[in-house]
Amino acid sequence: MEELVGTCKRCGKKIYCQDGFLDGVVREDKTLVCFDCDQKKETHIADT
Ligand SMILES: [Zn+2]
Repeated sequence: MEELVGTCKRCGKKIYCQDGFLDGVVREDKTLVCFDCDQKKETHIADT
């Protein structure tokens, strides 16, 4: 079972929930990003 959750805020890739497993990451500011974008460019995010 696959359900569209939303799109990556950075690259626009569609993110699905597959059998309850999210194909991406919801960050603390509630933005949704794919695994690729979550793993790269962490350095420029300001944690305030
Ligand atoms: Zn992405």
